[in-house]
Amino acid sequence: RNQGIGSWPARRARKTPDRIAVVHEDHEITYRHLHERVLRLAHALRTLGVARGDRVAYLGSNHPAFLETLFAAGALGAVFVPLNTRLTAPELAYHLTDSGAAVLVNAPDQAEAAAQAAADAGVSHRVALAGPGSGALGYDDLLALGGTAPLDEPVAPDDPCMIMYTSGTTGHPKGAVLSHANIVWNSVNVLVDLDLAADEVTLVTAPLFHTAALNMTCLPTLLKGGRVVLLGAFDPDRVLRLIESHRVTCMFGVPTMYDALAARPRWPEADLTSLRSLNCGGAPVPERTIATYLARGLAFAQGYGMTEASPGVLFLDREQTSAKAGSAGVPHFFTDTRVVLPDGRDAGPGERGEILVSGPHVMTGYWNRPAETAAAVTDDGWLRTGDVARTDEDGFAYIVDRVKDMFISGGENVYPAEVENAVLGHPAVEECAVIGVPDAHWGEVGRAVVVLKPGARAEEADILDHLRGRLAKYKIPKSVVFAEALPRTASGKLVKPAVRAAYAQAAA
Ligand code: ATP
Ligand code: MG
Repeated sequence: RNQGIGSWPARRARKTPDRIAVVHEDHEITYRHLHERVLRLAHALRTLGVARGDRVAYLGSNHPAFLETLFAAGALGAVFVPLNTRLTAPELAYHLTDSGAAVLVNAPDQAEAAAQAAADAGVSHRVALAGPGSGALGYDDLLALGGTAPLDEPVAPDDPCMIMYTSGTTGHPKGAVLSHANIVWNSVNVLVDLDLAADEVTLVTAPLFHTAALNMTCLPTLLKGGRVVLLGAFDPDRVLRLIESHRVTCMFGVPTMYDALAARPRWPEADLTSLRSLNCGGAPVPERTIATYLARGLAFAQGYGMTEASPGVLFLDREQTSAKAGSAGVPHFFTDTRVVLPDGRDAGPGERGEILVSGPHVMTGYWNRPAETAAAVTDDGWLRTGDVARTDEDGFAYIVDRVKDMFISGGENVYPAEVENAVLGHPAVEECAVIGVPDAHWGEVGRAVVVLKPGARAEEADILDHLRGRLAKYKIPKSVVFAEALPRTASGKLVKPAVRAAYAQAAA
């Protein structure tokens, strides 16, 4: 029997065939229809030679075909490999070769890079969404060819379900191998802690090829029989309109997305009464973002996780958002965490250390990277996150920053996220990144790279004055550099290595 997530459309079609599963632009797909399309695609992929354990890659922005390919691969016991649409052709070829993909499905806007990368990586078959392109099979033609006879490929919970690449924020993306059980347990955690209901209308606007959009909101909503509204690319005005027109109840975003929504002229009068939970994470969540959403009476909840944990680790219930502002919450229901000091002892309340995670949703390893797996997962199953955290007396965790982003000034550890949070409190500041730069006296000192709000003005001295009294002296940057924009990943995360490369040497 298929006990993997490839069986979800069939199981949903058995329970709630006529409910709408996926909405994209003017198309609505019921669970019955989704099941049928997945079956057709799975049969067609099988005809192309896709078998158990083979890798099926997908390159494209949010679209129903992303989910259909994921489920069809799962129906065959094959492994789904979502790819980042921002990658260049050589980077794509690297991912295709690294994962050993047999098939690549791509969206029309990605056809050129996909064709080149698939050829370079020796991918056997390329399937293009908009119909047959040069050397590609048409996605719709393939669906028409595939039959609808039931498929009963045996799939066990521990079989690999997807290879999901990390965001590459701190270096080269690594392929985390997530099993069907990993995805199911994460979904159960989400259903328990985020209270997703059968009448959920979940807006998916963060990219599905990153873990949070796919695994924190989209798949759990489909497991529960709710409705997923897909938006191809984040556009704050369209998001506000979609929330109103679809009566959206739930969404996930990184902090920059929530900031962008609240900065729109339509924000004050937008009808947001349908929203039951706004989930935010993936990067440090600034206090000002939380305050903006609480001031509007919205159910804003912070979560913390990572690709390797499928991804949910910590979650702060929306009821506690104001009492524990800034906290990422407590571990999910089936999750355990520890904060450990450099000497291996468990940290007490208030002490900062690396946060480790254990649970049935934690990956067994990285694809083809035994050394990195051994460095990341201990023999008894604890994942080393590379993030610094502390807990308060009540057990609520606060993510301090990444170990790699910390710098030492005059012998004191400085965590840039804390400094950025304070800089963002200045009314003229739109975005901020803090890095450590070499200093003859202190070893390293902070430098703030600041993007001002449109039309706003501020000098270096205004920013530094704002920080005095808010931060200890050693944390206050010694220089401020103004920039037009900051380097971010496809999901909106700050890419610190790129900030350092561009601004560590720049004259202040
Ligand atoms: P890479 O591992 O390739 O460098 P990445 O770590 O950004 O990229 P993801 O798995 O997408 O890849 O992101 C997980 C990381 O995001 C966490 O390890 C943590 O550093 C950060 N993060 C997630 N949620 C939060 C949060 N609520 N507060 C602060 N940081 C967060
Ligand atoms: Mg990481």
